[in-house]
Amino acid sequence: MKKILITGGTGFLGSNLCRKLIQDENNYIICLDNNTTGFLENVKDLSTNKRFKFIFHDVINPFVFNEKIDEIYNLACPASPSNYQGEKAISTTLTCVYGARNMLELAKKNNAKILQASTSEVYGEPLMHPQNELYRGNVNSIGKRACYDEGKRCAESLFFDYNRIYNSKIRIVRIFNTYGPYMDKNDGRVVPNFIVQALTGQDITIYGNGSQTRSFCYVSDLVEGLIKMMNNSADFIGPVNLGNPNEININEFAKLVLKLTSSNSKIIYKELPKDDPTKRRPDIKLAKEFLNWEPKVELKDGLCKTIDYFKKILNI
Ligand code: UDP
Repeated sequence: MKKILITGGTGFLGSNLCRKLIQDENNYIICLDNNTTGFLENVKDLSTNKRFKFIFHDVINPFVFNEKIDEIYNLACPASPSNYQGEKAISTTLTCVYGARNMLELAKKNNAKILQASTSEVYGEPLMHPQNELYRGNVNSIGKRACYDEGKRCAESLFFDYNRIYNSKIRIVRIFNTYGPYMDKNDGRVVPNFIVQALTGQDITIYGNGSQTRSFCYVSDLVEGLIKMMNNSADFIGPVNLGNPNEININEFAKLVLKLTSSNSKIIYKELPKDDPTKRRPDIKLAKEFLNWEPKVELKDGLCKTIDYFKKILNI
């Protein structure tokens, strides 16, 4: 049996990853979370499975576990700007940095492979477009997003030092905007905001003039990329971008959500948060070459599935 630890296991990506990995009967899943932005409800359907165990734990603290662990996916961290920019700013940095250190120590003790969920935010406000992995980024180190951006950058640096000093078996993925079922309807990100607003007849809130772009990847594609990166036999450690190169501006995105939900909600414009990146699109050449991975789900199809999920949880 392969023992796989997933930190942030009750979050959006974590719960989708748990659900996918448990399908393999050789896998035993240890799901770690302190449920600050995750929900036990997200893994409720897995809780009766004998190959699934939930442990309440904050990765800021060292994690002692007496069974042998084979793989660690380190996903624990608030990921929505409206979540990490507020009261959680300090704990976000600590989760990134201490969390990485604690999980790297656990991996070292177990001689386990460890994958770090890094982010497109390491590129900050990008001066290169699309962003490839060689680009070193343009992050405002004293801005409101820095707790996340710099936290994740520091985690990458720790991972590489553990690799250089202890030969740790690391993998680093830089995750671009991802959406799908089990996103928190209240987390403040654009996908749940627009869908919930459209479904409940509230105004659609575009921040700024809506010309900023993002590239949205459906969660099943992203999860497949995570697993391929963990298991790649080439010992390719990354960092590698995982995301969908299909770029769209926020105005077009709002119109698409309105169309797919057949909603009459009206679009309103609000102030653009400070340091909000003006554009973002992954160059996924490395992922294609080393992992034979690229996203398959079209935005329209993924959005329809996500809309169905939100209809279900909102009882619509
Ligand atoms: N955004 C928006 N309205 C919302 C929420 C977000 O216009 O209700 C914008 C936000 O300013 C950003 C983009 O949508 O330009 C994506 O924001 P999100 O919070 O989803 O993630 P980010 O890519 O900024 O981390």
